[in-house]
Amino acid sequence: MILDCAIIGGGPAGLTAGLYTTRGGLENVTMYEKGMPGGQITSSSEIENYPGVTGEISGMDLMMPWPKQCQKFGLKHDMVEITRVSKDGDIFKIHKADGNIDEAYSVIIGTGSSPRRAGFTGEDEFIGRGVSTCATCDGFFYKGQEVVVIGGGDTALEEALYLSKICSKVSLIHRREEFRSAPNTVERVKKTENIELILNSVPDEVYGDNMGVAGIKVKNNNGEIRDISVTGVFTFVGNDINNETLKQENGSFLCDVNKQGQVMVDINMATSVSGLYATGDMRVDAPKQVISAAGDGAVAALKVISFVDELLN
Ligand code: FAD
Ligand code: NAP
Repeated sequence: MILDCAIIGGGPAGLTAGLYTTRGGLENVTMYEKGMPGGQITSSSEIENYPGVTGEISGMDLMMPWPKQCQKFGLKHDMVEITRVSKDGDIFKIHKADGNIDEAYSVIIGTGSSPRRAGFTGEDEFIGRGVSTCATCDGFFYKGQEVVVIGGGDTALEEALYLSKICSKVSLIHRREEFRSAPNTVERVKKTENIELILNSVPDEVYGDNMGVAGIKVKNNNGEIRDISVTGVFTFVGNDINNETLKQENGSFLCDVNKQGQVMVDINMATSVSGLYATGDMRVDAPKQVISAAGDGAVAALKVISFVDELLN
């Protein structure tokens, strides 16, 4: 059987695509997810910017009902890792880690992205409990408090500016003297009174207790250690787009990606390959939020319904 649509990834983008494709009338839709559905938000202890959801709710709580809602309309779930998506004529080949290959007329991919780890002691232990990779998500939890930002690229500086409007002070730690970020952004950071630049320095250790982070030790190029008392540490040291599934045997990508590895899409989430749609954190200019990933999934699904209809009728 050839699937009407194969959905790769079961985060907010993939699950919403599953809901809209099945509820919109497609009968043979399978979502491939290598772990439990829900995506990266399930690792967050609190989410308070998903519209309509008030009160304290964890990422896991938010995502728990999503798969059930999709299954009600007929979405099938295959718990398997997809190693590659290729295309042969009009038919996509879905290569599964168990060695089997499924076939589909259309593909919606939403395999997300992974923030890079900076590699200091305590980073893994306190991620989601004081160490964060998302200022839009977690900045508000530190309203009026001091925080630390790590990194010297556009993301770190832009997020430091964002946090400076919420927090009382932002200490920006960067391992060199020069920034990678756009000169204009560097100027804005330097002019912001409540941002302190701590240059030629790297985080050595984040420490704390059961309650979360209590402080960070920062080491400069001379080996001197400075201890900063903060409960919030934001790391922005780059991001890896989970695009390996789109890599072909010859090393090229199935569709156009930019130099950061983000999948190029138009306003309909359509890629450069007919019938292939990319959604959520992995697509170009993604706001990297649950609400926008879900929105992408809905947009792609609606386009897939008419794409499959035109292809088969
Ligand atoms: P993801 O959520 O990354 O889902 C991708 C899914 O694809 C994963 O389940 C993964 O297992 C699966 N997958 C990947 N590769 C394969 C493969 N080859 N085969 C099969 N399956 C595969 N956003 C907010 O809006 N508010 C917040 O407060 C917030 N807080 C956050 C806190 C933390 C700690 C983190 C990490 C993120 C937070 N975010 C928040 C961001 C939000 O989680 C993401 O923007 C959103 O989850 C992106 O959804 P997605 O569907 O694009 O990708
Ligand atoms: P990036 O440009 O790769 O910058 C990562 C930063 O983290 C660098 O300053 C790097 O230091 C530092 N770093 C890396 N590993 C580290 C470690 N282990 N410990 C401490 N510091 C570490 O990543 P990004 O800022 O996320 O940007 C990614 C891309 O998106 C860039 O091309 C950027 O221009 C683009 N972007 C553009 C905009 C915009 O145009 N408005 C906004 C955001 C992102 P070094 O400098 O020493 O290598």
